[in-house]
Amino acid sequence: MEHKVLLQLRHECEQHNAQLVAVSKTKPVDAVRDLYELGQRDFGENYVQELVDKATQLPVDIRWHFIGHLQRNKVKHIAPFVSLIHAVDSESLLEEINKQAQRNHKTIDVLLQVYVAAEETKFGLHPDELLTLASIICANPNRFPGVRICGVMGMASFTEDEEQVRREMKTIRGTLDDLRAQCPEWAGHCVICSMGMSGDYRVALEEGSTLLRVGSMLFGKRE
Ligand SMILES: *Cc1c(COP(=O)(O)O)cnc(C)c1O
Repeated sequence: MEHKVLLQLRHECEQHNAQLVAVSKTKPVDAVRDLYELGQRDFGENYVQELVDKATQLPVDIRWHFIGHLQRNKVKHIAPFVSLIHAVDSESLLEEINKQAQRNHKTIDVLLQVYVAAEETKFGLHPDELLTLASIICANPNRFPGVRICGVMGMASFTEDEEQVRREMKTIRGTLDDLRAQCPEWAGHCVICSMGMSGDYRVALEEGSTLLRVGSMLFGKRE
């Protein structure tokens, strides 16, 4: 079997040294398995129960990315399975992830979510808030030993205005660069800029994304 879109996305990611996460939310296990058989190993989910269901049915070498808004009381469910939690936006959530990481005898990699979009409903931290939170963690390395901050995640506005998307993406990427400059101790692992979806992935790659989260382009429209 051949999947032209997957090949094309992989090719573009390679040219930009970016990683491709296939966002499989709401799609059946078989759809994930099809891409798995073509070599895809990174999959993204938004809902806790769905991630747990899929992770327990599919091969263990899949790297599961939790990309949705995560409630503190749900961290325990995904902790055994998750490889990267993308949308961390508070100290209390970090605290809970740290606790569940230690219970599972692992380190959990996370990204801090930057808020840039014009829409009011999106979660995340303004760049200044994000850097303030990071500086506190960086100054207290023993505070969250079970958590490793690996970079930032962001979502640009859902708009046709490409210049606006580009500006917002520059802010997301700039926040990663500021974070690295501010916490040089993290330089080895704090390298991920998770931005770009089906509608804006090309702009994202041009603006320094290192990880695309692509759903509908790979799996077709969601219900
Ligand atoms: C659903 C989702 C995606 C994928 O969106 P597509 O437009 O289907 O590519 C990416 N990131 C997040 C956070 C999502 O919720």
